[in-house]
Amino acid sequence: MQRVGVLALQGAFREHVERVRQLGVDAVEVRRPEQLAGLDGLIIPGGESTTIGKLMVQYELLAPIRALAQAGTPVWGTCAGMIVLAKDIGPSEPPWLGVMDIRVARNAFGRQVASFEADLVVPALGGEPFRGVFIRAPWIEVAGDDVETLACLEGGTIVAARQGHLLATAFHPELTDDDRFHRLFLGLRAAT
Ligand code: GLN
Repeated sequence: MQRVGVLALQGAFREHVERVRQLGVDAVEVRRPEQLAGLDGLIIPGGESTTIGKLMVQYELLAPIRALAQAGTPVWGTCAGMIVLAKDIGPSEPPWLGVMDIRVARNAFGRQVASFEADLVVPALGGEPFRGVFIRAPWIEVAGDDVETLACLEGGTIVAARQGHLLATAFHPELTDDDRFHRLFLGLRAAT
C-alpha cells in the first residue's frame, strides 16, 4: 500500500497514523469524504463505536466508506472499529457499515474484567505470541463461512478475524510496540 487513511473522528487514531508512517507508508487523517479518494486502505480505530458511527453519519462518511469497502479496498477495524465493520452488532442496534460477515457482542467481557492484556497465538503472524490489549472490548460471537479466524482467547472466543480484504481485531495493536498486525494489514490486497 502507498497511502492509507485513518478515520480520525474520535478514538485512538493518532497511534495508527504514527505506526503506518513508521512503516514507510503515507497516512492520511480522514475527516471528509473527499479524503477517501485514492486510498489503498483504511483503518477505523478504537474508541466508542456509537460516537464514531454517529459522527460518520454527520460527516457524510458512512455511505462512501461502505462503498469503498464493498469495492474491495482493504479496511481494518480495531475494537470499536470492528463493531463499525460488523453486519450484526446485536438486537438492540442497527449495524453501521455492515460489511463484514461477523456478529459481535459489545463490551462483551463485562465490567469486572473490562480491560486486560493477553498473549495471543496468531499463526498468521508467525511463532511469537502477540500481546493483545483489550479495552472494554467486543468479541466475535459468530463468524460467517468466508471469515478466517486469526486469533482466539483460551476457551475459543474469537478476537481477530479476516474476510478477504477486511480485517478485524477486538484489541489494540496500535498501543503495543509490535507492528506485525500493521504489516499484515499493509500487505492485504484489494479484492477485485
Ligand atoms: N466499548 C467500546 C464500544 O462499544 C469499544 C472500546 C474500544 O474501542 N476500546 O464502542
